[in-house]
Amino acid sequence: MELIDLLQALVRIPSPNPPGDTRAIADFIAEQMRALGCTVTMPAPEAKPEAVNVVATLGQGDPVIMLHAHIDTVPIAADEAGRWRFDPYGAVIDEGRVYGKGSVDDKAPLAAMMLAMQHAALTPTPSPTGRGEQNQQFQLARSGTLVLVAAAEEEVGGRLGTRWLADNGHLPLCDFIIVGEQTHNRVATAHKGVMRATVRTTGRSVHATNPDRGVNAITAMARAVLALEQYHRDLAGRVHPIVGVPTCNVGVIQGGSTANAVPDRCAVYLDRRMIPGEDPAAVQREMTDVIAALDVAPAQIEIGDFLVSNWFSSTIESPLAQAFMAATGAILKADPGPIGYLPGSDAKHLTGVTRGEMVIFGPGSYEVAHAFDEYVDIEELRTTSRILDHFIDHVLLNG
Ligand SMILES: [Zn+2]
Repeated sequence: MELIDLLQALVRIPSPNPPGDTRAIADFIAEQMRALGCTVTMPAPEAKPEAVNVVATLGQGDPVIMLHAHIDTVPIAADEAGRWRFDPYGAVIDEGRVYGKGSVDDKAPLAAMMLAMQHAALTPTPSPTGRGEQNQQFQLARSGTLVLVAAAEEEVGGRLGTRWLADNGHLPLCDFIIVGEQTHNRVATAHKGVMRATVRTTGRSVHATNPDRGVNAITAMARAVLALEQYHRDLAGRVHPIVGVPTCNVGVIQGGSTANAVPDRCAVYLDRRMIPGEDPAAVQREMTDVIAALDVAPAQIEIGDFLVSNWFSSTIESPLAQAFMAATGAILKADPGPIGYLPGSDAKHLTGVTRGEMVIFGPGSYEVAHAFDEYVDIEELRTTSRILDHFIDHVLLNG
């Protein structure tokens, strides 16, 4: 396998989610990993059997190091169709970039991780004769286990992907986990969580000739929107050193049907970003308190439909994490971080299978992911690959 050929092959196997059918790309990855001598399983949840994952294992014993990347992509959105310079599944190379849906998110880190598996499998084992032998038994040169997880369902929250894998015993307990996402090859150790919620006001509808006989649900909601704006401002006092401050955004407002009637219903949809350390249950109580403190009588107000996607945060104190920081710094010849990662990732689902630490790492920027003309810079991807190989050399192969 050569890095860019491999990336092109991965991009040319579409895996948009929805619908999230990853059978074809999982088959391709499994075949490549079996050819390296890995032990390969392809678990899929009963609730969505076409969302196939790949878990490929090399070596045995401690330490256990996981390389994780997701294999689904966002679909081609209606407003991006026709705007692509190249076929989104063509993996066209132009001026040092590979273009395509999933090229950077997340098939670029996936390709680098598959190459890292190959590097580990094919590196000669030091022999007693000192000559070095081809690694025929597919044992790593030193004790240790390298696991590639190619996960489905990340783009729709991971509940039937990585969360399901972790909860159902398909993943080993790890000493160090690298989650491939877009960090420009710097090491991210935290991302925010998200809480969604809906606020609803209820009034009484009457004809607009005499509005005072009714109860206006939109006017009541206006007070809630202003209170939520104040809440958002107050949150700016809580600062996380890497990911910044928590926020609360009123993203959608719906209410009323015609100008000549008093509206009896209004709803707003909220997006509350949590920083690491914020307890989702406490955040939910806070938001409930903001709404409960409002006087909107005789209208009624309630908040509900809470939905949580948790934050993630890790230290980088272990020898493995320190070795990864050192490998990144040495190859990048720049400050490896740690940095924050603004979007969420599957890292939040992996906290139950780590007894060590976890980082997010990969080429490119999340700002070019999920958009037309998604691309990865080839040199940057080669750097990703070199960092992973260098790290594996150091901790699993040659010391
Ligand atoms: Zn991603």
